Amino acid sequence: MLENHAVAVADNRIAAILPLEEARETFQPSVLVERPGHVLVPGLINAHVHAAMTLFRGLADDLPLDAWLREGVWPVERRFASAELVRDGTELAIAEMLAAGITCFCDQYFFPEIVAETAVDLHMRAMIGTPVVDVPTAWAEDAADYLSKGSDLVHDRYADHPLISTCFAPHGTRALSDASFTELRVLADQLDVPVHIHLHESKSEVVASMEATGMRPIERLDNLGLLNSSLLAVHAVHVTPPEIARLASAGAGVAHCPTSNLKLACGIAPVRAFLDAGVTVGIGSDGAASNNMLDVLAEIRMAALLANVAADDGGAIAAEQALRMATLDAAKTLRRDHEIGSIEPGKLADLTCIDLMRYNSQPVYDPVSQLVYATRAEQVSDAWVGGRHLLDQGELTTINRESIFRRSGEWRQRITDFRNQRQ
Ligand SMILES: [Zn+2]
Repeated sequence: MLENHAVAVADNRIAAILPLEEARETFQPSVLVERPGHVLVPGLINAHVHAAMTLFRGLADDLPLDAWLREGVWPVERRFASAELVRDGTELAIAEMLAAGITCFCDQYFFPEIVAETAVDLHMRAMIGTPVVDVPTAWAEDAADYLSKGSDLVHDRYADHPLISTCFAPHGTRALSDASFTELRVLADQLDVPVHIHLHESKSEVVASMEATGMRPIERLDNLGLLNSSLLAVHAVHVTPPEIARLASAGAGVAHCPTSNLKLACGIAPVRAFLDAGVTVGIGSDGAASNNMLDVLAEIRMAALLANVAADDGGAIAAEQALRMATLDAAKTLRRDHEIGSIEPGKLADLTCIDLMRYNSQPVYDPVSQLVYATRAEQVSDAWVGGRHLLDQGELTTINRESIFRRSGEWRQRITDFRNQRQ
């Protein structure tokens, strides 16, 4: 924790961290941003989201997971999933995330090439997950088609891109046959990309796996050669102590999405046990249809509170640990911690500035505690991605607010008309 310090940025990277007075003498910056009373943190990272689903926010609330998918989300997705919806939904999501201090997100959705294009257009950093399922959708026909489209349209096109990295994002173990998983593993190994999958999210998922294969999902992935340091297990709510040990020894990461787990009544992930076992845990918002906000500050507060209840210990997760889950540890789960997740010379200049001169954040005994327990997303004043100032005193610099609101309204009308016709 450094007080009265400055961060110097050159090109897209952090050049130096030094006391304010020394910075004034050493550098003659072309742009100088001063924010007294604020705290500068590494740009927040959202380790799991379905960005385009912002357009389904509030569409099917108050349903348990299976009914939410079957009655709420899937019919609308089947009708409307398209490049146009993904572009508009992703832009809304990026606006929401930047305004909440999020500078990088890991996405899992159809039309991933459109998610990537949109992120690049807005200068947002992202890990783009190619979805993989065995059934046809508007984007691809079968697992082989998802995989080849993902490697051509996303991985090859964005290899070594300054903003975009890629992964495979099979929806869940129920969605793929053993043969499809094997095909995916071979390609993921070959391209050396992470595999991002909803895993042990609900009791019904584990029961269905036992019925269909005689194995719990983690065991099945292990048998298929997918339980390794490239795996990012999203949710990991219903896991036994031996399964936690298995994730730890494999070096797999977990994306913890506490609000989504509560909303869909999935349960509470054993975060304290993950940390004790040495599993790296990043924080995720999940999609806006199941949260309903893409707000990582709100998620770390929720994560810290829930961990206490789950572990029956008021200090189960320290505030500093919670903040790491949204920064450096999230970067580790995405295998990007050599580039982002902390404020260090040489790393990419992804930075978030938060105003603590607010009633709810005063007085400041401990800025980290204040960030985790007493800060709202509205207090985020500025955000930079690769040194570019994307949020400047609360105003987005690459996104037109009126255009986003107009398109959101148009989608609401189209989707409402469709749902009314079906009834
Ligand atoms: Zn999800």
